[in-house]
Amino acid sequence: MNISNNLLLIDLKKLDELKSQVIEIIDQKRTVLEDIARYLYENPELGSEEFKAFEKLTSVLEEHGFTIEKGVYDMPTAFVARSSGKKDVPKVAVIAEYDALPGVGHGCGHNLISAAAIGAGIASGAVVDDLFGEILVVGTPAEEGRGPSGGSKIIMANNGFWDDIAGVIMLHPGNAWSVGGQALGISGLSFEFKGQTSHAAASPHMGRNALNAATLAYTATHMVRQEARRDANLVIHGIISEGGLASNIIPDKAVLNLGVRSSEEQYLDEMVERLAKCGEGAAHAMEVEVEITKRKGYKSKKLNIPLIKTLWGNYLELDAPVKDWKESISAIPLASTDFGDVSQRCPAAGSNIGVTPAGTPGHSTLLADATVTKKGLDAMIIGAKALGMTLVELLVKLEILDEAKEYFDSH
Ligand SMILES: [Zn+2]
Ligand SMILES: [Zn+2]
Repeated sequence: MNISNNLLLIDLKKLDELKSQVIEIIDQKRTVLEDIARYLYENPELGSEEFKAFEKLTSVLEEHGFTIEKGVYDMPTAFVARSSGKKDVPKVAVIAEYDALPGVGHGCGHNLISAAAIGAGIASGAVVDDLFGEILVVGTPAEEGRGPSGGSKIIMANNGFWDDIAGVIMLHPGNAWSVGGQALGISGLSFEFKGQTSHAAASPHMGRNALNAATLAYTATHMVRQEARRDANLVIHGIISEGGLASNIIPDKAVLNLGVRSSEEQYLDEMVERLAKCGEGAAHAMEVEVEITKRKGYKSKKLNIPLIKTLWGNYLELDAPVKDWKESISAIPLASTDFGDVSQRCPAAGSNIGVTPAGTPGHSTLLADATVTKKGLDAMIIGAKALGMTLVELLVKLEILDEAKEYFDSH
């Protein structure tokens, strides 16, 4: 046996011990973590106003020795908690979300995201003294996109926050267990058509109908679907939000708003350009003016296979009923998240924990209530362990972070 094999064996033995410690600490802290999940459930706060959650999470992290930067990038309810080992690089991070939804409270289950992230952070932070690197728990408000901190991960991305993080992980509650699911990037596209009003019966020839242009553009954008790449999960959805004032006046203004989504970032940008031409063409045909506004929303998720495999392996070690990661990475993505923007900046892996029966809708009181049942809390504990074990594994087997970076750079 050569030296490197020998070293590897020592490392792996040490890794097993550290993982056992993480599991033990999370079991010991179960009441603290359940308390976080219940407290947030009972005190749901909308995006950018998560002051109670912020107070709760940061105080628990402080009690467990984390150094906390509060209100980062002028977002009052965002935080970065750090726990350093023998060095402060490489940095690995777990993300907490804690915003609720109007009417359905924690109908997206972000209370469990928080509890699991705090659990993973304090358990891995407790053993970080043995490791070379730094563990971060990043508090990202307003994931649902409300208020000035809306899409906080994008604000952080634009400030370069994620650029020196070697690996970032998180979980989200749902109906099933999986690691590595895709997410759709989303862009907004608005067309404001401007024509000329005229009496619709007496002098239609003197009018230029903006609504007709909007209708033509709407129809054209939907015809583009036929030529969409089937592997890129293109979704086009839209409304005509303004279309005239009275039926006897030819409308001089009409507004068409589209949402465009795809699981591939570059393709999404290409399709936004292509769909913009539908508006230009319609305006040309109807002899009206058009003003086109493009808005970048959440980015699609860039998958990082080395990180996904590592996180998945830890769920398996815990006997979680997690789907094969290969199945998850090719499953049709349904929604968009600002975690996508993180994944475009540094290696990232997301996971889902099963807290509700199959078919339960997201953004519902059914999901909110499930987060505080025994099944929901048990799932959160398993998730916290898998995340904590992964943070530790990444700082022990640094070669995974190298592979993750290489994968990130080449995809
Ligand atoms: Zn949601
Ligand atoms: Zn969510």
